[in-house]
Amino acid sequence: MTQELHIIGGGMAGSEAAWQAANAGISVVVHEMRPAVGTFAHQTGLLGEMVCSNSFRSDDHEQNAVGLLHWEMREAGGLIMRTADKHRLPAGGALAVDREPFAQSVTDALMAHPNVRVEYGEIRALPRDGHWIIATGPLTSSALGEAIAAETGAEALAFFDAIAPIVYHDSIDMSKAWMQSRYDKGETEEERTAYLNCPMDKVQYEAFIDALIAADKTEFHEGETAGYFDGCLPIEVMAERGRETLRFGPMKPVGLTNPHQPDVKPYAVVQLRRDNKLGTLYNIVGFQTKMKYGAQADVFKCIPGLEEARFARLGGIHRNTFLNAPTLLDGQMRLRSQPNIRFAGQITGVEGYVESAAMGMLAGQLAAAEIRGERLETPPDTTATGALITHISGGAEAKTFQPMNVNFGLFPPVEGLKGGRRGRKDRYKAYTDRGKGDWKAWLSGAMAPA
Ligand SMILES: Cc1cc2nc3c(=O)[nH]c(=O)nc-3n(C[C@H](O)[C@H](O)[C@H](O)COP(=O)(O)OP(=O)(O)OC[C@H]3O[C@@H](n4cnc5c(N)ncnc54)[C@H](O)[C@@H]3O)c2cc1C
Repeated sequence: MTQELHIIGGGMAGSEAAWQAANAGISVVVHEMRPAVGTFAHQTGLLGEMVCSNSFRSDDHEQNAVGLLHWEMREAGGLIMRTADKHRLPAGGALAVDREPFAQSVTDALMAHPNVRVEYGEIRALPRDGHWIIATGPLTSSALGEAIAAETGAEALAFFDAIAPIVYHDSIDMSKAWMQSRYDKGETEEERTAYLNCPMDKVQYEAFIDALIAADKTEFHEGETAGYFDGCLPIEVMAERGRETLRFGPMKPVGLTNPHQPDVKPYAVVQLRRDNKLGTLYNIVGFQTKMKYGAQADVFKCIPGLEEARFARLGGIHRNTFLNAPTLLDGQMRLRSQPNIRFAGQITGVEGYVESAAMGMLAGQLAAAEIRGERLETPPDTTATGALITHISGGAEAKTFQPMNVNFGLFPPVEGLKGGRRGRKDRYKAYTDRGKGDWKAWLSGAMAPA
C-alpha cells in the first residue's frame, strides 16, 4: 500500500468508491466540501446524503434493471446497499430508507474504516498528479466545474439536463410510424432512414397542444436556474408561446412522406431518433419538458404510434453537471487527456442514486486495481453495472448524450425470446438470470485476492 487514492465528493458515488477501494487495501482520502460549502439541495454535512426522494426504486432483482443493480452491489459488498438494507422502510416492492440514519451510518462506516480519512473542504482545481476520482455529482461546485470545463472544453460539460423522453423501440406501433430522414438526406440507407416519424392530422395536433398547455408542470428549485439557457425550451413553453410554434419547430411536417398514407400530407410530425447503438431505444427529438412524469406519459400516448409506448425514461430539465462521457472517458472511467483522474457517479452521465453509487463502486475497484499494478476489465454489458458503463463509455450516441437510468434497453437482447408486452416477464427474467451469472463470474475475478 504505497499510494493514496483521493476522492472528491462524499455523495453516493464517492462514498461507495471509497468503501470499495479501502476494502481492497488502498489508503483513501475523501474530500467533501460540505458543510462549509453547501448546495441548493443538500441539507447536512453528512456523507451519502440523499438530496430528494428517499427511494432507491424497485428492489425486484428478477424483473427490474435497477433491482438487478441492487443485487449486483450487494454481491460486491457495497456500502450503500448494506446501509440501505439496515435502514429500510416499508415501501412495497421499492427500497425506501430512513434518510438521516442512512447518511449518518454511511458517514460512520467510512470514518471508522482504518483505510479512510475524510478531509473537509472544497477542491477548486483539477489535480495534476496522484490517483484521483472526481465524484462531485450534479451540483459540482462552480470553481471545480470551471476547472473541468477548461480541461475538457466547455461544450463537453453540461450544467443542465434537457432530457427528451426515451421510448423502447419495440413498444412503437410501426403500422402508424415510419423510418425516414427529412428530404431523404444522407449518403447511406441508414442515414436516409435515421428518424422514426409519427404523423398527426390537424385535430390530433390541436388536441396535443391543448394537452401540453393543460399538463401539470414541475417548478425549478430556488437557485437552480442560474445560467438557464433559452436555446432549449421545454415543449410546453414553446406551445404556450404560440399554437403553431411546435409545427414550425421540432414537429414541422416538411420533407416527409408517410408510406402508410402517401396521399395525405401530415399536419405535424413527431420525430424520434435512435438513442443507442443496439437500436432498442429512441428519443423524441426536441421534446425536453418540465411536465410531471404522470402527465408526460398521458400526453405522449396521444401521439399516433406511441399509444402503447413504454418509456425507458421520461423527459426533464434540471440542474445537472455531467460530462460527455462517450468522448471524454476511456473504458476504465479515466479522463483521456489526464488519465490519473477518474470520474464516477452522476457526473459521468448516469442518473439516480443507485446508478451513481454503482459507478462509484466500479471506479473504486478500477482505481484500486490500478494502484496495485493490475488491470481490471469492466464487467460485461449483460450485467446492469456493465450495461451502464458500456453505455456511457461508448454505447450511447455522443452527439445526443444525456444522462441515463439503468434499463433493459441498455442490455444486449437475449436471443430466441418473444418480443412485445406479452413476452416481457420471461424476457426480463432471462436478462436478470444472465446478468447474475455474468456478474458472479466477473466479481470472482475482480475480488480475487491479490
Ligand atoms: C435537486 C436534485 C434532486 C434529485 N433527486 C433525486 C431522486 O429523488 N432520486 C434519485 O435517484 N436521484 C436524484 N437526483 C440525482 C442525484 O443527485 C444523484 O442520483 C446522486 O445523488 C448522485 O450521486 P453523486 O455521488 O454523483 O453526487 P452527490 O450525491 O450529489 O455527491 C456529490 C458530493 O460532492 C460534493 N462536492 C461537490 N463539489 C465539490 C468540490 N468541489 N469539492 C468537494 N466536494 C464537492 C457535494 O457536496 C456532494 O456531497 C437528484 C439530483 C438533484 C440535483
